[in-house]
Amino acid sequence: MVNKLCFVDGCQTRSDQENGPASFFRPPKDSFDEWKKIFPEKTLLQTSRLCWKHFAEEDIVKGKMIGQEFVHQERRRLKKGAKPTLLLVQDRPPGVSDDR
Ligand SMILES: [Zn+2]
Repeated sequence: MVNKLCFVDGCQTRSDQENGPASFFRPPKDSFDEWKKIFPEKTLLQTSRLCWKHFAEEDIVKGKMIGQEFVHQERRRLKKGAKPTLLLVQDRPPGVSDDR
């Protein structure tokens, strides 16, 4: 089994997280260039995945309106034009030794 890790450095979200199926998103074709600019030091690929933690809650579509009713869907999507904005840099204090 290969764990799918999030594209963001230091982010530990994996697809096998216990709190339900962690949602991962691929860069939409429309905003791929914009997403690339957000990560100038890494090579973002069309197949890269970012986890839900990097998106504002309102940018994640959790279901859809069917007639008058909002129906929750297991498979989440991003709103059009949504971009990763949260937790993009995980600060790790340098020089902290891990002496176990
Ligand atoms: Zn992540």
